[in-house]
Amino acid sequence: MPDRRTLTADCTSCFALCCVALTFTKSADFAIDKRAGDPCPNLRSDYRCGIHDRLRPKGFAGCTGYDCFGAGQQVSQVTFGGRSWREAPETRDRMFAALPVMRHLHELLWYLTEARSLAVTREIHADLDAEIADLERVTGEDADAVLAIDVDARRAQVNPLLARTSELVRAAVGRKKDRRGADLIGAKLAGADLRGTNFRGAYLIAANLRDANLPRADLIGADLRDADVRGADFTDSIFLTQSQVNAARGDAATTLPPRLTRPDHW
Ligand code: SF4
Repeated sequence: MPDRRTLTADCTSCFALCCVALTFTKSADFAIDKRAGDPCPNLRSDYRCGIHDRLRPKGFAGCTGYDCFGAGQQVSQVTFGGRSWREAPETRDRMFAALPVMRHLHELLWYLTEARSLAVTREIHADLDAEIADLERVTGEDADAVLAIDVDARRAQVNPLLARTSELVRAAVGRKKDRRGADLIGAKLAGADLRGTNFRGAYLIAANLRDANLPRADLIGADLRDADVRGADFTDSIFLTQSQVNAARGDAATTLPPRLTRPDHW
């Protein structure tokens, strides 16, 4: 199985790819418009952010919510062998194009690794191992191979394993609510018993989940931007990512799975 650290952003080993490759649209999350390929004006020459400790007050909350799942350092150090887009400007377009591809693959690896770590998924461990090994192989290939990857096909290949994982985890709760893709924007769910609920792709933007119980809930792809998760219990919830957590509003009483860290702004 991949070391979790390789699926966690290490900005010190990345050429600030997310600060250059991505498009920003001026909004509540970004104080400026920025085209893909243009370095953010806050980016320093050493690839560090000049306002790292003031992102939210400066209007860059979107930067605190972004998580590359370690794709940035993989593209910088492995795919392009440690040569930056400043040292080798001829590589910049391909390097920036490789970031979203690698991010998708690392996100899938994150989910698969989590699924494989669970005893309840024993019946599919061999299939999970095979998929993880194949994804690790392709993420280590050269730029041409990475850029040729059909991400949608990869997702389709992995999805049945993630769906089966969800069934097995939530079955232990007995009562399984299905809120897949539900519009729960601003929903009042404070203190609700949501154990074992399937929130796959649900819109929980600005929902009130204060003190809600979410053990064994499936949160894959759920939009938790600005959701109030103060005091909420995410123990043993599955497929929750750092990016989702960073975008929500929690506090010291929010219980997170051990693989995730409490955001500084909580
Ligand atoms: S504000 Fe900082 S973290 Fe956000 S894109 Fe610009 S340099 Fe990167």
